[in-house]
Amino acid sequence: MTELTFATPKTSEALDSLRAEVRSFLATEIADRTPLQKSDSWNGLDTEFSRKLGQKGWLGMTWPTQYGGHARTEMERYVVIEELLAAGAPVSAHWIADRQTGPLILKFGTEEQKQTILPRIAAGECFASIGMSEPDAGSDLASVRTRAEPVDEGYRINGTKVWTTNAHVAHYMILFCRTHGTTEDRQKGTSQLLIDMSTPGIEVKPIIDLAGQHHFNQVVFNDVLVPKSALLGEEGNGWAQVMSELSYERSGPERFLSSFELVVELGRILAAAPHSESAAIAYGRLLAHTAVLRRLSRSVSVMLEDGEDPLVHASIVKDLGATLEQEIPEIVRQFADLAADPASARQFREVTCNVLLNAPTFSLRGGTREILRGIIARGLGLR
Ligand SMILES: Cc1cc2nc3c(=O)[nH]c(=O)nc-3n(C[C@H](O)[C@H](O)[C@H](O)COP(=O)(O)OP(=O)(O)OC[C@H]3O[C@@H](n4cnc5c(N)ncnc54)[C@H](O)[C@@H]3O)c2cc1C
Repeated sequence: MTELTFATPKTSEALDSLRAEVRSFLATEIADRTPLQKSDSWNGLDTEFSRKLGQKGWLGMTWPTQYGGHARTEMERYVVIEELLAAGAPVSAHWIADRQTGPLILKFGTEEQKQTILPRIAAGECFASIGMSEPDAGSDLASVRTRAEPVDEGYRINGTKVWTTNAHVAHYMILFCRTHGTTEDRQKGTSQLLIDMSTPGIEVKPIIDLAGQHHFNQVVFNDVLVPKSALLGEEGNGWAQVMSELSYERSGPERFLSSFELVVELGRILAAAPHSESAAIAYGRLLAHTAVLRRLSRSVSVMLEDGEDPLVHASIVKDLGATLEQEIPEIVRQFADLAADPASARQFREVTCNVLLNAPTFSLRGGTREILRGIIARGLGLR
């Protein structure tokens, strides 16, 4: 079996002072958000808040300044997003564009794509969506059927994408599709296109999730014509590119902090409740597990900063993180009776219900548990 080590996270006074700056910004900017809203941090959509982050220089942080970025380090970016999520800030509008669309354009895009899109993402004014999953292609992404036929004017696209988060507010989608061959060719003949969502023929239909909210969509492409300049990277190189896109998705603090507001709520009711040994042990365990995940996730940031490709490490963080995120509501709900008064109990219940309704998604989005464990087993030489 291959031995695995996690790099030591970096600390510095500069990182501490950045953390303090973000905390003080959030203390005023999101002072009005209720605990229920905070438990929806990742789903919370507030375009004005995203613009303010852009003005602070906290989007596109690691990108070169010539494209509107701020040439900061991965660890600096880590500090900012960790603070945003731990505080329950509404990060959904810019999240995908900042986390993966921008880095992908930076890596594979043309000079024109970089210059026109990256500064707008960094300013918090341009949002994006991920066009990978289809009704018959989720874990098995290589069976993708959406087709972009090369024609004289560019590409003619037909097909359907599903579970497309924020397609209804996004300016762009990075579409993973087939430009050549058939489904039997699997990875071969696939490409990525940068789709302007205002192009005629794109129909975005809402899908309402378990919690009754609209984040997902089905996106239908009906003879959509896009210019040749929409190609991202190389024609036929889609599989390699989409794999590199997924690696941006799998290791950040969003992979262990989704239920964190509920841990905060448990701490709140325990502070006012008579001592309960079982509650104190449960609370201590959850905090200890969160601290371990945090250590691993910061370590992946260091590895990214050092130019390594921590695919297996990131998959471990996502798998363990999703397990913790799903355990939190199951453990915390047992202590609802400890709330000191009806108002406190109501607030606790609201947050618990919201997290419970969202929890099933934590081990699906960005790659399911079984798929991640397959990657880990392969990386460790076990299969
Ligand atoms: C909150 C959320 C947001 C999302 N946002 C987006 C988005 O913006 N864009 C996008 O393109 N997609 C998005 N998705 C879709 C997500 O990527 C897919 O749900 C995921 O890849 C799984 O695909 P599927 O739903 O088709 O399930 P399937 O692939 O059908 O899997 C069903 C079950 O079978 C298991 N399974 C499948 N294959 C294997 C195998 N080979 N070995 C063992 N077990 C297997 C899976 O682990 C899973 O448990 C989102 C999903 C969620 C929950």
